[in-house]
Amino acid sequence: MKCSRCKEPAVVALPSHHAGFCASCFLDFFTRQVEKGIRRYKLFSHDDSILVAVSGGKDSLALMLELSRLGYKVTGLHIDLGIPGSSEAARAVVERFCERHGLSLLVKETAAEGLAIPLVKQRLKRPVCSVCGKIKRYYFNKIALEQGFTVLATGHNLDDEIARLFSNILRWDRAYLADQGPLLLAEKGFARKVKPLWRLSEFETGNYAFLRGIEYHTAPCPYSKGASFTTHKTFWADLEEAMPGRKLDFYQGFLENGRPAFQQAPETGEESVRPCDLCGYPTSADICGVCRIKEMMRER
Ligand code: SF4
Ligand SMILES: [Zn+2]
Ligand SMILES: [Zn+2]
Repeated sequence: MKCSRCKEPAVVALPSHHAGFCASCFLDFFTRQVEKGIRRYKLFSHDDSILVAVSGGKDSLALMLELSRLGYKVTGLHIDLGIPGSSEAARAVVERFCERHGLSLLVKETAAEGLAIPLVKQRLKRPVCSVCGKIKRYYFNKIALEQGFTVLATGHNLDDEIARLFSNILRWDRAYLADQGPLLLAEKGFARKVKPLWRLSEFETGNYAFLRGIEYHTAPCPYSKGASFTTHKTFWADLEEAMPGRKLDFYQGFLENGRPAFQQAPETGEESVRPCDLCGYPTSADICGVCRIKEMMRER
C-alpha cells in the first residue's frame, strides 16, 4: 500500500478515512484532526492556559505532546492514586515524559488527603471504580480552578466517546445525552472541560504514540475488572470494520443533530447545584461526594 499523500510506502492503513499514510503524513493527518476538532467547537485558543489530565496512558500523553507541539500553554496534572504495583509505575512514566519534553507537571497524591485508593476500597461495600473516578474528577476540577487554569483537557478518544454515547443511548439518559461532547462550558463551580482527541480513534492515538516514541503505561489497574464499556467497544469495532467511517459519522451526527434536541428538551427534576458545606465544591447535596468519602474514611 502506498501513502495516499506522497506515494511512499504506507505504514498506517486508515480504512475509515479511505487512506493509508507513511509515518510523516500520518503525523500530519493526526495534527490536522486535532486542529479540526479544536476549531469545530472552539475548544480553546492560544491565550488559554490548559491543564491536561495525564494518567500515563497513551491518549493523555499523546494529547499533551501534540498540544505543546501546536504551541498551546499546557501543564500536566497526574493524580497518584497510591495503588501498589500500578500507581508508582504510571507516575514514573508521566514524570519521565514531562522531563524529556520539558513540560510542567503537577502531581496530586490522594493518600495525602486520606484517600489512598486501596484504603478506600477496603472500606467500601461496592466496586471502587466509581468512587475512584469521582475522586479523580474532583481533584482535576478543583486544581484547575484553584490554580487559575482556563481549560481542563482530557485524552478521551473517539472510541471512548462512542462507547459512552452508546451506553447513554441504551439507557436514554437525557441529562447525560444533553451534556456529552468535546466541550463542557465552565459553570457553577466547574471548570471548562474539553476533549481535543474526539475525532481520533484509539488505533490512531496508539500509532501516534508509537511514531513519536512515547513511552506509556500499559499495565491495567489491579482493581479493574475489565473496562465497563468493553462490550460496546467490540460491537462498534465490528460495525466499523463492516462500514468504515461509521463511528466518526455517528458521533458527529449526534453532536450536530442529537445533542441539540436533548438540550432543548424540558429538563426534568434538575437538581440545583450549591457549594459543599465543607470544601466549597459544587454539589446537589449539603456535602459533596468526596467529603462524604473522607468522612467515611475517618469513621471507625
Ligand atoms: S480501574 Fe478503577 S480503581 Fe483502577 S484507576 Fe481506574 S477507576 Fe481507579
Ligand atoms: Zn506520505
Ligand atoms: Zn466537599
